[in-house]
This record gives sequence, structure tokens and C-alpha cells, in this order.
Amino acid sequence: MTNLSGKTALVTGSTSGIGLAIAEKLAEQGCNIILHGLGGVMEVEAIRQKIADTYKVEVIFHGADLKEPAQIENMFGEIKEVFGGVDILVNNAGIQFVAPIDEFPADKWHDIIAINLTASFHTISKSLPYMKEKTWGRIINIASAHALVASPYKSAYVAAKHGIAGLTKTVALEVAEQGISCNAICPGYVWTPLVEGQVADTAKARNISEDEVINDVMLKAQPTKKFVKTDEIADMVLFLCQDAAQNITGTTMPIDGGWSAQ
Ligand code: NAD
Repeated sequence: MTNLSGKTALVTGSTSGIGLAIAEKLAEQGCNIILHGLGGVMEVEAIRQKIADTYKVEVIFHGADLKEPAQIENMFGEIKEVFGGVDILVNNAGIQFVAPIDEFPADKWHDIIAINLTASFHTISKSLPYMKEKTWGRIINIASAHALVASPYKSAYVAAKHGIAGLTKTVALEVAEQGISCNAICPGYVWTPLVEGQVADTAKARNISEDEVINDVMLKAQPTKKFVKTDEIADMVLFLCQDAAQNITGTTMPIDGGWSAQ
């Protein structure tokens, strides 16, 4: 396994769910971490300290709101001062909102496009100069099965995630000769606060019970009938950081229990 010690990873949205599992997995391999996301000061500091103490790596936190390009810029200024740059960029932060398109609030549309798509444009463009200088880099976008297939009532999310698939392929082609790969992982349903939060809204949009949402909507989509585990996503991120994965680029890789095979 490629040793990641001395490398630095920015994992956006790593205060929770999938991002937190990825940050811990990379730290376990010796990678310094920029923990990022929203969250209470005490809660975030406890996570930062725990990762730093457990894995003996440097961990800093930045709370840039990804809707604000100026805050992303500020985060990269701080990263440059502390680490010089980012070797591994995991664009993971994301939000969801579920409603029929003719009732879909325009502000929710804009927030989802800003956080789930446009922020990755900013983080990628700000990470690449350092990666090019080092002729090594890994960009991993946590997309979704919704980058490959659609579901009703998720217009903004599906549009943003399909956009990420296109961005991934384009970046992969632009940097293919420079030791940098860019891939998208496309998870099916993973039990995290994001999914937990959409159960009630989906029940309302479809006029069914919350149990029916879990069994007849979410797990129905996944032939394995199991939620994907956050660790399974983190393991794939780790694999993509290995030398063995250097020729894997421009992919949209499902980890979805067979959902997108249907
Ligand atoms: P989560 O809600 O547990 O975590 C989301 C993270 O994003 C948090 O750290 C949060 O602070 C951060 N975030 C949200 N808005 C932000 C903003 N404006 N600025 C900065 N940070 C912000 O979600 P999760 O389920 O772990 O999802 C992580 C990613 O995986 C998302 O991109 C999501 O679309 C994708 N995904 C999740 C699932 C699933 O079933 N959970 C499935 C497919 C894809």
C-alpha cells in the first residue's frame, strides 16, 4: 500500500457522515488532514483533536461556507501557509432537498448547485497548481448514483451530480499526463445524517409513511437491500490514492448495491 505520510488531504464536508469516514481513513495512512464543514466549535474541535491524537497526523479545521467563493479562497490561503497545498482533494460536502419541481424553492436550487457542483470547480482549480508542481495528485469527487440515474423530486441534486460527472471527466482529460487523476465515486444510499434528514420530506412528497420511504423507495432501489457503509466509500478513496490506481481516471464509479445496473 502506498504510504500517504507527508501528504495532505482536504476532505470537504468531513465533520459528518461519509466525509468524516474518509478523513479518518486517510489519517490512518499517515495523511495530514484539512477537516472541513459546518458544525459547532466544540463539536468540531473534538473531532479534530481525536483524529490528530489517534493517528498522529496534523489536522487543521476550516469552516468555509462552500456557497461563498471568497471563503473557499480564504481556506486555500490558510492551507498554503500550513501545508503548501493539497495532494489529495476529496470533494464530498453536499446537501439535499426533496420536492416536486413546480414546488421546488429557487433558493434551494441555487444552494444545491453552489455546494454540490460549483464549489468543486473552485476547489479543483485552486488545488491543481500545487498538484501540477508535484506531478502527483488525486481528485476524488463524491458524486452519487444520482450522477448516473435520476429519481423524481430531486431535480437540483440530480442536475448537480450529473454536472459533477461531467466535471470529473473533463478535469481527468486536462491533467492526464501530469500524474493527477480525477474520479467520481457514485454511492447509492448510505445511512448518514443527510439520508436520515430526507426521509420525512420524501414521505411528504410521495404521501407515504417514513418506513415505506426506507423500504419501498430507498432500499428498493438497491438490489442488495442494504445501505452502503461510510467505510466502504472511504476504502475506495484510499484505493484511488494508491499507485495501483494511477491509470484509473475519468471514471464515475458506482458503489450502489447494483442500483445503477438496473
Ligand atoms: P452529511 O450531511 O452527513 O455531511 C455533509 C457534510 O457537508 C457536512 O460536513 C456538512 O457540514 C457539509 N456541508 C453542508 N453544507 C455545507 C456548506 N454550505 N459549506 C460547507 N460545508 C457544508 O452528508 P453525507 O451523507 O455524508 O454526504 C456526503 C456526500 O455524499 C454528499 O455530497 C452527498 O451528496 C453524497 N452522497 C451521499 C449519499 C448518502 O446516501 N448519504 C449517497 C450518495 C451520495
